[in-house]
Amino acid sequence: MAMTTNTILLVDDNAEARAWLIESVLRPEGYAFVEATNLSEARAHILAQPPQIIILDAQLGDENGLALLAEYGLRYPFIVTTTRRSVDEMSAALEAGVVDVLVKPFEPQRLARTLARTLRMIKAVGERQALREQVDRQAQEFNALYTVGKRISGLFNTDEILELVVSAAVNLSGAEQGSLMLIKPETGELYLRAQHRLSTQETQRLRVKVNDTLMGRVIQSGRPMMLSGTDVRKVQTSLLVKSILGVPLSVGDKVIGVLTVENQISSRSFGKHDVHLLTTLADQAAIAIENARLFRAAERERAKLGTILHEMQDVVIVTDDELRILLINEAACEAFQLNDTALGQPLAEVVAVQPLIDLFEQRHTEDFVWRADITLPDGRVLQGQLSPLEGVGYGAVLRDITRLIELDRIKSEFVSIVSHDLRTPLTSIRGYVNLLPRVGPLTEMQQDFVARVERSMDSIVDLISDLLDIGKIEAGVDWEMHAVALHTVVREVIERLQPTADMHYHTLTVDVPDLPPVLGNLRRLDQVVANLIGNAIKYTPDNGSIKVSLQEDDGFLILQVRDSGIGISLEDQRHIFDKFYRVESEATEKISGTGLGLSIVKAIVKKHSGRVWAESELGRGSTFTVLLPRYVEKTK
Ligand code: ADP
Repeated sequence: MAMTTNTILLVDDNAEARAWLIESVLRPEGYAFVEATNLSEARAHILAQPPQIIILDAQLGDENGLALLAEYGLRYPFIVTTTRRSVDEMSAALEAGVVDVLVKPFEPQRLARTLARTLRMIKAVGERQALREQVDRQAQEFNALYTVGKRISGLFNTDEILELVVSAAVNLSGAEQGSLMLIKPETGELYLRAQHRLSTQETQRLRVKVNDTLMGRVIQSGRPMMLSGTDVRKVQTSLLVKSILGVPLSVGDKVIGVLTVENQISSRSFGKHDVHLLTTLADQAAIAIENARLFRAAERERAKLGTILHEMQDVVIVTDDELRILLINEAACEAFQLNDTALGQPLAEVVAVQPLIDLFEQRHTEDFVWRADITLPDGRVLQGQLSPLEGVGYGAVLRDITRLIELDRIKSEFVSIVSHDLRTPLTSIRGYVNLLPRVGPLTEMQQDFVARVERSMDSIVDLISDLLDIGKIEAGVDWEMHAVALHTVVREVIERLQPTADMHYHTLTVDVPDLPPVLGNLRRLDQVVANLIGNAIKYTPDNGSIKVSLQEDDGFLILQVRDSGIGISLEDQRHIFDKFYRVESEATEKISGTGLGLSIVKAIVKKHSGRVWAESELGRGSTFTVLLPRYVEKTK
């Protein structure tokens, strides 16, 4: 190659002239050259091996040397030598584009300079050409990569993207054909995912075990593999190729497939630049595949969630931080008469049920129990719970408790009917038992029996009056509310219970100052205080200490009853406010009760918009606290 590029064709019929040029310029300057004495010899040389520069004598015996100029002037740089000082001839030659016209005799340096200048010119033109080709190629590559990239960031049509990747790989690397194979995770086999210019036959053949040496190497090493010539034959492969380039497709550090381009006919091998190009394309393909996988996975999850939400009986409503609706399920649409147009709308504008809006508005309160019972226009009652959803907003789940409420009502009604019907016969039994000692003398044993009957009667009567009470409280009958001075209530209860406390040698400490009133029902509040102090006396072994305090704080009146009694375990603390719950232990064995006292307390406190809770440690005593909102006179 180097020889041909530096060949000079010397065309001159005069042997002496040729010898002079060769000896004085071409040899000393180290140029390779061929000689021709006439036009046909010159043409033959040009055809056999294109020269780089032609030195042409204008007079070739009988022939006009310039005929060659007419034929090849545009393709090769000519230097014309002549003996005639004809201005016409010279200007014609120059017009035809020759590099120089030298009139014999000329200095050898003159030709040497012209040759050197011409070669520089040729080199510059060549470089410019190469540069242009490189720019063109880069533009083409950039264009291809850009197109692939754009498809990937656009809508997902993975097939199209992968076909594009393979065709770009083939075209940009100048290969004959190409393929993209992926590994089937179940079998470890490679299967053809996309191809460019493969024959049908090849397409069918392309199911390769990963242990196929060539593909296998790419996959196992995670590195590109470039083979040509005899190297291909050294590696066992089912592919019949002369040269091949394969690069891995990786997601994270896992190889999921191979992108290959190959030549079956041409033995042209691939270069570093092709490796780089294919790697970039393979990365794009891997991204497209991973995107599609993520998209499918997300879609599956979404569909699953959608089904769950759809089928769910519970109402689900999700909003953003500004309470604009983000999600509602079927049950929500049905309960609140909504449809898809509600999405994106502010909750308060599309929902007509105020308590639901109030539930969401609770999000600003510090109390973390955001609950509400919501009655729908059709009479159903939903129990709702609002929760903050990190990064989303708020979500409410509402459950239909209509049936539970109804059952509860039926149960309460039943209990109150039964207790009411029991009371009348009980009163008369008690009357007659009381009369027994008066109608005649009783033996000691009889007296003992009567006393036992009386005690049992008392507890039955207590139970019945508690049952009736709780029924009434829950039904909300007899429920006038007034401003009540809680301190007076507490003092009265203490006065009433002092004798019982004395009987057990308890020290009763009272810290009850005059305080503002609460809005409440006097009789029921009395019951609350009496139950708590009564329990403190009951569940404290003799010689105990009981402290009752009342104070005001932040708009609330706080009643605390503290005892040094038997205490309540953490497990039992969870249930003591439930109806009929009594702690069963050695310490409580001999203490009688109905298990209704605290549930009455709780129901009453709830009716007063207050709260009650217990703190206790087994064996150390208990503290019961009641919080009631201070009465605020309505300013009208
Ligand atoms: P009871 O009629 O059994 O007293 P309550 O509803 O008043 O029913 O109380 C429920 C249970 O809570 C009691 O059985 C008792 O075990 C426990 N309890 C209530 N108050 C106290 C207290 N001050 N100290 C220890 N245990 C208590």
